Amino acid sequence: MTDRIAVVPGDGIGREVVPAAVEVLSALPVDIEFVEAEAGDRVRDETGEALPEGTVEVVSGADATLFGAAGETAADVILPLRAAVGGYANVRPARAYPGVDALKPETDLVFVRENTEGVYAGIESEIAPGVTTLTRVVTEEASRRIAEFGFDYTEARGDDVTVAHKANVMRTTDGQFLDAVRAVADERGAAHEEALMDALAMHLVLRPEEYGVVICPNLAGDVLSDLAAGLVGGLGLLPSANVGDDNALFEPVHGTAPDIAGEGIANPVATILSAAMLLEHLGHDEEGARVRSAVEAVLEDGPRTPDLGGSATTEDVTDAIVGRLG
Ligand code: ATP
Ligand code: MG
Repeated sequence: MTDRIAVVPGDGIGREVVPAAVEVLSALPVDIEFVEAEAGDRVRDETGEALPEGTVEVVSGADATLFGAAGETAADVILPLRAAVGGYANVRPARAYPGVDALKPETDLVFVRENTEGVYAGIESEIAPGVTTLTRVVTEEASRRIAEFGFDYTEARGDDVTVAHKANVMRTTDGQFLDAVRAVADERGAAHEEALMDALAMHLVLRPEEYGVVICPNLAGDVLSDLAAGLVGGLGLLPSANVGDDNALFEPVHGTAPDIAGEGIANPVATILSAAMLLEHLGHDEEGARVRSAVEAVLEDGPRTPDLGGSATTEDVTDAIVGRLG
């Protein structure tokens, strides 16, 4: 069966690292049809639209999407694209690799972040001059859905689950979130730990090795996963997935990196690891594992791009990864 993958490189280094990941995918014995589509500043400058209708159609009709990054139009592009795939779960692995300088080399975490509500529901107002409010939305349905996803993900990985919350202060909203996670854990007979998100931030810095999968409300997941990025040594390494019921979008955590765009030295690893997540999502576990091992081998032995202290180009690293696919 052919998998139809939408490829949306976007702007900046997205145009360098997405082709690199496509090169890796193309070197595998998987039947993939790539459909390219444009989004971001570049297409906006050409056509007036940052997210052309045709791109939304390509993404909605694909089995999965590989996205790069968008510049100043990022919010106009990525939020609707995540919505187009129904991406309610944001999965952000943060793992340290041998050969890469990391603050905490024993880090191997996966954040499973609720991606549709919480304080990011976008309900803000200025109710009087100088007085602003924000409405935090937490539903039982979305909380259960992310909990189910988190426990499924953990079962596949065989790891510990921690749920991050602040239900001692946000009693109603995080209370509901926590209750939903407890109920799902009970129904499944699955173990889980509970952690106040502020204390968890400290524990993650001191002892990241004690944690595995962390299920988080939206904002907490955003902050804690960036914190973990700092533990493992670099934006150029971190992949992510936005997973919905029957579609998903994969993208590096980094942005367009305007300071190095066009130089051919962007680290392609974050996007190549996003492609590995895409393969696994589509059931190509063996090929996903091959990509991961090839990436690990190259991170350990080189070549490495300048962000990791090397002097190799995006192409050198990509070729090396393709060469080690086995
Ligand atoms: P944007 O607004 O698109 O997010 P930004 O200026 O915040 O742009 P990021 O892409 O978030 O840039 O990157 C932040 C820093 O990390 C930059 O200095 C960038 O060069 C570096 N960086 C990010 N991704 C990579 C990568 N894949 N390879 C090398 N360096 C990277
Ligand atoms: Mg940025």
